[in-house]
Amino acid sequence: MRKLPARREMNSPAPNLPVRSNGDGVSPTPIKIQPLSPERYRIQFTASAELHDKLDQLRSLMRASIPDCDIASIIEEAVTEKLERLESKKIGRTDAPRKSLDETDTSASSRYVPAAVKRAVCERDGGQCAFVDESGRRCTRRDGLEFHHREPYGRGGDHSLENIQLMCRGHNGYLAELDYGKEAIERHRRSAHRVSEPDVSYTIDWSQLLCRLRDYAALTFIKRLPRMWSRILRGIVSLSA
Ligand SMILES: [Zn+2]
Repeated sequence: MRKLPARREMNSPAPNLPVRSNGDGVSPTPIKIQPLSPERYRIQFTASAELHDKLDQLRSLMRASIPDCDIASIIEEAVTEKLERLESKKIGRTDAPRKSLDETDTSASSRYVPAAVKRAVCERDGGQCAFVDESGRRCTRRDGLEFHHREPYGRGGDHSLENIQLMCRGHNGYLAELDYGKEAIERHRRSAHRVSEPDVSYTIDWSQLLCRLRDYAALTFIKRLPRMWSRILRGIVSLSA
């Protein structure tokens, strides 16, 4: 890693650099990716001092598994591990599944898609949005994928493999608007936004709080009992002496 010479900060990214948007209107750090050959890329970006220090730390910790301390190999291993963790969290991918698809309840009793179904859907759809347009072209998105119910869950659709498809966020939203109507989806988004910001002053469960106080008082009393008895006994002994 080479330290950049000190120079004045630029207010805008350099021209012709691809800037990836995260979809929230926040401008991420410009990243320059240059293909060198069909299997090799040069990736260049500006790192913070913290990232620089973390990479140094990682390099020394991984010296045993990557003897030449090649920074590309170290980053690849770290990114692979993070991807595996995110995938297992999002699509239930795991080396030791608790339930197979045959053992899984796919009825609409819960709103959550079971992990075994998620794994099977991802495998069947090849980790890619399954939306096919009128010309027969399939969407190529492989990021930000969601699980779409062909027969909507709100209308009794179950979580069977046949009823669920992988969809990118845009196509899932588009199909939800077709299923429920644009107005209903807008209302749902607004109410979901309100639910995510509850007013804390209304969330205190007073009866539970009183129960906890009662339990605490009882526990404190029980803890002090031996000391109280020894004091009483000492008092009796001193009186009788
Ligand atoms: Zn799509």
